[in-house]
Amino acid sequence: MNPLLELIDVRVRYGDGPGSIEAVGGISLSLQPGEALGLAGESGCGKTTTALAIPRLLPDTAHVTGAIRLGGVDLLELDEHALQAVRWKRVAVVFQGAMNALNPVLRIGDQIIEPIRLHEPETSRADAQARVSELLQGVGIPADRARDYPHELSGGMRQRVMIAMSLACRPDLVIADEPVTALDVMTQAQILELLRGLRERLNLSMILISHDLSVLAETCDRVAIMYAGKLVEEGPVRSLFPRAGAGGPAHPYTQGLLNAFPNIRGERRFVDGMPGYPPDLASPPPGCRFHERCPVHIDRCLAEEPQLRPVATGQRAACHLVGEEP
Ligand code: SF4
Repeated sequence: MNPLLELIDVRVRYGDGPGSIEAVGGISLSLQPGEALGLAGESGCGKTTTALAIPRLLPDTAHVTGAIRLGGVDLLELDEHALQAVRWKRVAVVFQGAMNALNPVLRIGDQIIEPIRLHEPETSRADAQARVSELLQGVGIPADRARDYPHELSGGMRQRVMIAMSLACRPDLVIADEPVTALDVMTQAQILELLRGLRERLNLSMILISHDLSVLAETCDRVAIMYAGKLVEEGPVRSLFPRAGAGGPAHPYTQGLLNAFPNIRGERRFVDGMPGYPPDLASPPPGCRFHERCPVHIDRCLAEEPQLRPVATGQRAACHLVGEEP
């Protein structure tokens, strides 16, 4: 099957000249139709920059190179007019922080109607309103709440509205940036259940960004781990985070991330924090960018950058100590 989305050696640099920063340093990934991919890593690792580069929603100071193919069309080749037809209609984004992403002075129904009227001007107002009711009910909100303003809804409901809005133009791909961060645990579980249900019902392709691996393990088919702008490991959820038995993460950074979360099924123990901080991207260290924090680094790691290579079926990691030489 042809992938819906292909990222080929995508690089994002903010600024020009000596003070510029390469926030994403050559990411290659693909996404099949109906597949959910999780992007994880610490703050500043480049996961949101990578995802927002897809619909070209980064600020003008960001220079994106490589190729971002959606259905075979390179989005980096499109002009602004052609991109308008891609945003919402083919790629929709659920932004971080629903309260800030919604317009506080507009009723939520009017906010959901906006992309429909913009991208499907042939749709009558009555049909668009009927679709708003359907969308709200689809995310578990009674249709009569369409007249509410954002401040009249709970945090979980606002997040549901954002999800409904992202589905307004029936896109092929939804990018959700930290969709459950800042919500309480019960609401998080409800939103994740909603996303799982919508995926199955609508055969949606999804990129879910989170720093919380348990969120991705519950919701996604595959997970990609980023560190300091690089992709360090990628693979199916079941092989990266097996419930029992063999397998598991191969990269020391992914292992460290996993050890930093409590495991309710494993033995009781204190979680291990990861020492140190990610490097300054204005002057990243040579070799493996993780070497200053890596508990098992060798001399080679200080001089030579590891490349992604197969570790197990469908799993790749960028570490000198794992996998076979290509
Ligand atoms: Fe650690 Fe070296 Fe592997 Fe990097 S390449 S993760 S420093 S062992």
